[in-house]
Amino acid sequence: MKNNLVLISHPKSHLHVQPFPRPNLESFDSPLRIQMAERYLDDKELITRVIREKAPRASTEDILRVHTPYLFESVRLMSELGSGNLGEAAYASPDLLRNALVSAGGAIRAGEKVIKKDATHSFSMMRPPGHHASRSTAAGLCYFNNVAIAVRKLMDIDGIQKMTVFDFDDHFGNGTSDIFYENPSVQYIGIHEYDYENFGVGHYNELGYGEAVGTNINIPLLDGASNKVYQEAMERLVIPSIEAFKPDLIAVSAGFDSHYADPVGNMNVDSSIYWFIGKAIKELVTRLGNAGTFSVMEGGYNPMMTGPSIYAYLSGLLGEDCPELEDQIEREPVKTLDDSNSGIIDQVIDTVSRFW
Ligand SMILES: [Zn+2]
Repeated sequence: MKNNLVLISHPKSHLHVQPFPRPNLESFDSPLRIQMAERYLDDKELITRVIREKAPRASTEDILRVHTPYLFESVRLMSELGSGNLGEAAYASPDLLRNALVSAGGAIRAGEKVIKKDATHSFSMMRPPGHHASRSTAAGLCYFNNVAIAVRKLMDIDGIQKMTVFDFDDHFGNGTSDIFYENPSVQYIGIHEYDYENFGVGHYNELGYGEAVGTNINIPLLDGASNKVYQEAMERLVIPSIEAFKPDLIAVSAGFDSHYADPVGNMNVDSSIYWFIGKAIKELVTRLGNAGTFSVMEGGYNPMMTGPSIYAYLSGLLGEDCPELEDQIEREPVKTLDDSNSGIIDQVIDTVSRFW
């Protein structure tokens, strides 16, 4: 099959705004982070190989396959009020419900394009993000869990049996992990920044529950993790874990806030690692002979860097060479930090490889 890609967006995706002046943590989720990426991609030749499509709105039923009626109603009511606090760092703004439904609809459409074989890969470039939203809780700029909503629909309606959600956002996708924690048919793999001084959810001892033990894989890295560390985690952990699980379809929570210039994340990677991840996933799809992958945008808060990051990722998925981009500057390697992160990867492998 021809290796092509569908990019899903919406001309009104800039309408979702956070009700905060800058600088403020929430205000980093700004319309600019997608507007700038759109402009960056439009200037690239790669875009001629990409089919563009407009995100539709998800239905109430789509949302309720994952979320409780209480969360749905809370988002609807506070959206009508135009303000309100829905959870930790999850505030309502006018038209929030419509924007959240279109973002979830983009994720669903991305999945459907792949299973209908219109494309091998797809990418929904929409806001608000979703991976911190659990069944009943909005949190961390997320209201509805877009990737989980798409996964549920593809499994319940379209009959897909086994799926992997790979989440490379800088932060732990706690909502997605929670939603599928006791579901043996969905493998969650998250690579993220972790604070070993204060601990918290996202540790590698969280393995899933009941029949699903072994299907939740957390790769909690120390902040400052480099390209080398992410590459090692992909090669030694992520890829073997997915190969062992043999999913029919791979979903990706694609967050670009591990970029060294991100104002929220504290990792030390550049766009070349997103190319590497895209390429690794593309090759995995070929080896597994499965339908393909669909990716859903999560974080990525430096509007100057979402463009190069997404462009590099899509280039990897399309099997192109790694583009040399302006953000790929030489940075001082910290060997002790790389060694510590390698040690963490060893411990995760010790913990999860018995399920391979
Ligand atoms: Zn994030």
